[in-house]
Amino acid sequence: MSENYDVVVIGGGPGGYAAAIKAAQLGLKTACIDKYINKNGKPALGGTCANVGCIPSKALLDSTWKYHEAKEDFAVHGISAEGVSMDVPAMIKRKDDIVEKQTGGVAMLFQANGVTYLQGTGKLVAGKKVEFTPHEGDMQVLEAGSVVLATGSEPIQIPVAPLHEDIVVDNSGALEFTEVPKRLGVIGAGIIGLELGSVWNRLGSEVVILEAVDTFLPMVDKQVGKELLKSLKKQGMDIRLSTRVTGSEVKDGEVIVSFSDDEGDKNITVDKLIVAVGRRPYTEDLFTVDSGVNLDERGFIFVNQSCQTDVPGVYAIGDIVRGPALAHKATEEGVMVAEIIAGHHTQLNYDCIPSVVYTHPEVAWVGMNEEQAKAEGDDYKTGMFAFMANGRAVAANETTGFVKVVADSKTDRILGVHIVGPQASEITMQAVIAMEFGASVEDLQMMVFAHPGLSEVLHEAMLDVDGKAIHSAKRRKKRR
Ligand code: FAD
Ligand code: NAD
Repeated sequence: MSENYDVVVIGGGPGGYAAAIKAAQLGLKTACIDKYINKNGKPALGGTCANVGCIPSKALLDSTWKYHEAKEDFAVHGISAEGVSMDVPAMIKRKDDIVEKQTGGVAMLFQANGVTYLQGTGKLVAGKKVEFTPHEGDMQVLEAGSVVLATGSEPIQIPVAPLHEDIVVDNSGALEFTEVPKRLGVIGAGIIGLELGSVWNRLGSEVVILEAVDTFLPMVDKQVGKELLKSLKKQGMDIRLSTRVTGSEVKDGEVIVSFSDDEGDKNITVDKLIVAVGRRPYTEDLFTVDSGVNLDERGFIFVNQSCQTDVPGVYAIGDIVRGPALAHKATEEGVMVAEIIAGHHTQLNYDCIPSVVYTHPEVAWVGMNEEQAKAEGDDYKTGMFAFMANGRAVAANETTGFVKVVADSKTDRILGVHIVGPQASEITMQAVIAMEFGASVEDLQMMVFAHPGLSEVLHEAMLDVDGKAIHSAKRRKKRR
């Protein structure tokens, strides 16, 4: 027996569920197959993002930052908060409740929009057919007008640090510690390592992060990365670059991690070890060879700018295709392909996708950084302004960091904005809007920003591009 749908989506993460909802909203008969089973053994929509990624990690980052503030920062405001303590199981339960609400919210949206949620595994076979194997029951073949592949990514595992119960863990296990590890090792100073390392560092863990390469956050503007590294070290995180992990051994409930650095072979003993060395596209058993779908040389599903695979009517989105592994990129690709399937003309602007590292201070950016601009030639200019010179930041006692602007020196067009500091994630969105509209530096220089506001730092950085910042002691008109 086979059932017909206009659209079958495989994967119910932020890419797949957005594609399914949008397709249904556009009047297409849509099913979304998702196989995720949560830690309570129940099917749950929302993928990595809602279950073990963006949402739970931000819940823990928010809880632990409040704890940190109460302990370390309240006193400066004259507030005494003695005896502040953290109930870790309560914090984890709060995180779990938030996850349940978010994943349940997606199921509700499916119902409200008429998307059929099929709990089980999907596989694309030749002729745009999809084999659906429910968690319980027999396989059925679905006939699809269009298919959207959105199966996401999985953590990379390394042979030198195999996962072990709740001691050597990946990002999912790192969200579940029931007490604060006294000594926490992290392999990989990427976004996950820094965010989850921050969570436990704020609660008192001695955190050591071992990073293989010699550059801290290579994708981030160099000056921004340097400022964040300085800040995290000041918070007590021991971040060691150019450090190659060579082995790990779990013994008596502890982990001995061996590594080599410039000084030779060493080891550390920790109570928990998080392995956060990147993620890879998850395409296991997703399509048959004769389905016509191809992978690129890095194992991502090969797609064009509009997320079309080599098979007409078959699309792939999110972490299984090229580009940054970010939830909002997956979502907007999902919306784009649903609109294309419904016959609309649309194209995502890949040059304006923001990125955020939710440490404290936050790091956020959109567009080209100075190193990338330099690699393309000499025709660029920069402006910078520090939160230290901003009244609102001083009032809030949040003066670390700066905003940096990179612009085209011939056309004055904004090429990129890079922020390390308070509410960097929110301020960046102003730059995204400006860049989407092709704004020039002068356009933003001429706008009125509310005072006192952290966004004034963006305004001053724009003014600084031409040496015109008001709250700056620099008098020379700068060129770059
Ligand atoms: P996923 O969210 O991975 O969803 C894929 C779904 O498909 C899963 O439910 C999976 O079970 C299902 N599936 C797989 N194969 C099949 C199959 N054959 N049949 C049926 N179902 C299948 N991004 C941000 O933008 N901001 C953040 O703050 C952020 N924080 C993160 C924190 C952590 C700890 C992690 C791990 C990731 C974080 N990310 C963040 C990245 C973000 O989670 C991913 O980019 C995003 O979830 C990718 O969405 P997706 O829809 O492509 O795939
Ligand atoms: P990542 O690619 O950001 O960082 C992995 C780090 O591990 C790199 O610095 C790499 O050099 C290092 N590394 C690799 N192998 C190593 C080894 N053997 N020993 C020591 N270091 C090693 O990957 P991630 O932190 O695992 O995150 C995966 C993806 O999830 C990110 O790229 C990001 O797109 C997404 N994510 C986003 C957010 C966010 O948007 N705030 C948060 C978390 C995750």
